[in-house]
Amino acid sequence: MPKSSTIAIDGPVAAGKSAVGALLALRLGYRFIDTGVMYRALTWAVLRDKVDPDDEAAVTALAGKTHIEVTSSDGLESSQIRVDGQDVTGQLRTREVEQGVSRISCFTEVRRAMVTRQRTLAKQGMLIMAGRDIGTVVLPNADLKIFLTASSEERARRRHLDMKGSGPSPTFEQVLEELLHRDKLDTERANSPLRPADGAHILNTESIDLTQVVERIIALAEDD
Ligand code: C5P
Repeated sequence: MPKSSTIAIDGPVAAGKSAVGALLALRLGYRFIDTGVMYRALTWAVLRDKVDPDDEAAVTALAGKTHIEVTSSDGLESSQIRVDGQDVTGQLRTREVEQGVSRISCFTEVRRAMVTRQRTLAKQGMLIMAGRDIGTVVLPNADLKIFLTASSEERARRRHLDMKGSGPSPTFEQVLEELLHRDKLDTERANSPLRPADGAHILNTESIDLTQVVERIIALAEDD
């Protein structure tokens, strides 16, 4: 049994957080929660209700009345996301959601609501939680903090590959441009900007197999 009971994984778009988190959950027998889906679920509700994603008051009001449920994953079964009782799991990776999500994620009250839910979900431990502010804000006392990175070209290549087969495929250049834009919003926002937490281990996933990244994290978790 590793000494680290809560593991925070942060990093920019397509750095490998979800794949690493799921594999790690499987190996350690922990639960995995990808917090990005919570912000995506609210963005889905913003689109559903035709709310302007830049209207902070309207988005905040919607966040207050929208019921978002997320089940954790054990690494095998992926998590399920419900918005007001409707299963939206398969509808959160569209370009419309991706183009809105970083706009609504910068609002103070939206983040406050999400962080409260995330801390509740993390209470029982034996958990891996991935996002942008897990090590810095959500779980500053996590036993182990990981920050994953890779070049923007490599991340766009992965994202482009993921998107193939799900509707009209954007070009690699469009994917790269949208990824850089999302990273910029996430890094430069005033509320909980994306950055490595103090004490985080920075791991580059550029050219190594994700299983090697997982082995490295397990070694760190056992050491901690
Ligand atoms: O990780 P994913 O790409 O699914 O995250 C979608 C967006 O949600 C991010 O670009 C970011 O704007 C927001 N997010 C956040 N804080 C988190 C997780 C995601 O602001 N902890």
